[in-house]
Amino acid sequence: MQAEIKEKLQVVLGAPIIRTRSVSGGDIAEAYLLETSTERLFCKFMQGTNALEMLLAEMTGLQQIRNTGIIKAPEVYFCEDFGVKVCLGMEFIESKSPSPGEMETLGEQLAIMHKTTSEKFGYHSDNFIGSLPQSNSEHSSWISFYVQERLVPQMQMAASRNLISKGEIPEAGRMIETLSSYFKDLIPALLHGDLWSGNYLISTAGEPYLIDPAVYYGDPAVDLAMTRLFGGFGSGFYHAYNENSGDIENEEDKTRLYQLYYLLVHLNLFGRSYYSSVKNIMEQYF
Ligand code: ADP
Repeated sequence: MQAEIKEKLQVVLGAPIIRTRSVSGGDIAEAYLLETSTERLFCKFMQGTNALEMLLAEMTGLQQIRNTGIIKAPEVYFCEDFGVKVCLGMEFIESKSPSPGEMETLGEQLAIMHKTTSEKFGYHSDNFIGSLPQSNSEHSSWISFYVQERLVPQMQMAASRNLISKGEIPEAGRMIETLSSYFKDLIPALLHGDLWSGNYLISTAGEPYLIDPAVYYGDPAVDLAMTRLFGGFGSGFYHAYNENSGDIENEEDKTRLYQLYYLLVHLNLFGRSYYSSVKNIMEQYF
């Protein structure tokens, strides 16, 4: 860590930093475990145009999840703009590999968190999915939200980056019509928004924590679809989820239609290797 940044952090912390350790594993940020004589904290640094907005949005999401009191999220201590770099400081979670029982707890707590509801689909502020902007403009209809705020912006971005052609973008009205036969009425539920296996931690005390959220109110099946995108979270997780949700959320069509959003995001972030997965779903449904 640069000496200048370290000095600025010491001012924020009001104490000398006695140890720093680089933490790997993130896609976007540079991260450290920092220790003072009394505290250990996890600090995530970003730079560039959206750095402050991204970290502020992450702070809002972590606080929103933590405030439910249902599932843990690291406590956020500060979000500071140091000029070149922005830093989000939060509770450091010493983590370990999950046991089957801890995955069940994660499933159970996620199902209960999904019972936190709101009047509208969306969120009071926008955030990011990976490094891409995610619009949370509120809608009364879930289908219109999912098409207008999720699918269309990612499809347009993919076209602007020449990853798909403009002609491949289905007409919004057609997407709305198709989705109406797969999605039923629902109450807007609080979502993590980017729930892949790198975005939860199991603490050494065995407690699940959600990290790196992209929160909004939507269909809980979106979070489940994301958990299933790259291999799934294991049968214990889904069993515990279903036991606590009262809904069997593994309808194949819905899962694919929700994975389409995340695959479009991957297409925009990582390029053409995701094109055929995107194209298959678009052709199958639209
Ligand atoms: P990125 O936004 O770049 O993907 P992450 O938020 O995923 O970064 O964090 C990078 C690494 O730090 C990951 O390995 C993650 O497990 C770990 N991590 C994230 N938050 C904490 C935390 N509060 N305490 C300890 N480790 C964390």
